[in-house]
Amino acid sequence: MNKLADIAAALKSADNILVCGHVMPDGDSLGSVLALGITLENMGKKVTMAGPDPAPAIYDFLPGLEKYRAGLPPDGVFDTLVILDCSVPDRLGDGYSELLSAGKTDVIILDHHASSSCLGKYRYVDPAASAVGEIIYDLIIEMGLEITLDVAVCLYTAIVTDTGSFQYDSTTPGTLRRVAKLMEIGVPAAQVNIRIYEEKPQAVYKLLCSALSTLNTSPCGKVSWMTVTRETLKNTGAEDEHTEGLVNYAKSIRGVEVGMLFREIEEGCYKISFRSKDAVDVNRLAALFNGGGHPHASGCTVRGNLEEIKDKVVSAALLALKGIK
Ligand code: 5GP
Ligand code: MN
Repeated sequence: MNKLADIAAALKSADNILVCGHVMPDGDSLGSVLALGITLENMGKKVTMAGPDPAPAIYDFLPGLEKYRAGLPPDGVFDTLVILDCSVPDRLGDGYSELLSAGKTDVIILDHHASSSCLGKYRYVDPAASAVGEIIYDLIIEMGLEITLDVAVCLYTAIVTDTGSFQYDSTTPGTLRRVAKLMEIGVPAAQVNIRIYEEKPQAVYKLLCSALSTLNTSPCGKVSWMTVTRETLKNTGAEDEHTEGLVNYAKSIRGVEVGMLFREIEEGCYKISFRSKDAVDVNRLAALFNGGGHPHASGCTVRGNLEEIKDKVVSAALLALKGIK
């Protein structure tokens, strides 16, 4: 692994840079891509900020979002490719994972997943960082540059979303010190929180209603799950992005250790989100199904029959809990 100073030096000598995050971008992925992209642009670099999927509408307020290009990687010769918040090549999405092995660019990996396995010329992975946004904060300081207000808003968004509004145990004194600095720069934290958490379309609550009606808990009371099918989305008028956060309702029941959401992404193909309180490492649980993530938040994608998938995954969760009082 490299030091942040190596990565700062590599970026300083780069000219034409592609910065990208992961499929179905979240606040950390988008906030980090934009924060680093804007900073590099301010240094006079030619920068392209991109990713395979569009940004969810709640992030419309992010400064610089108009520069974010969704879809296949843009044509062009980049001397440097920076990959953020992406633990495995598959999560880069169509067209982007190929860039890793194309060998034409210097690849820089910045990540906070303990299981991070993307390889590049430069690699900096800090599982103690609550969000990649924290790493970008440190990188900008390492480069001796100013964190502008626009960049600060992007970094704050990355951190507030990936820490579950500072609730998860990934939130450290260091996280809060960085956030305090971002507020001193001028981030209107309460206004940003309203944009992210309190301007939802009504369809989100119709979806919530529908998802809660599928809530199921194991007889021991420690595993709870919900299901959202394409039909549910159609009937409620909700979009895929509106499923964000639903899994927390399953986890937030007293006594529940593992909460899960089974979401149909296309016919016969299901995305499973796992969240845990303390006892279970859901990164390992998701890995049983070729997924991954963090100890308390992870995911995977499985094809097959929904009921069979549920049986398998719930059994695996119960097995992971075995021996835990
Ligand atoms: P979510 O449930 O919010 O989609 O994902 C939670 C976390 O799990 C993500 O931040 C990411 O780290 C990880 N994750 C989600 N889906 C996958 C997947 O298919 N593969 C891997 N390796 N990680 C995933
Ligand atoms: Mn992240």
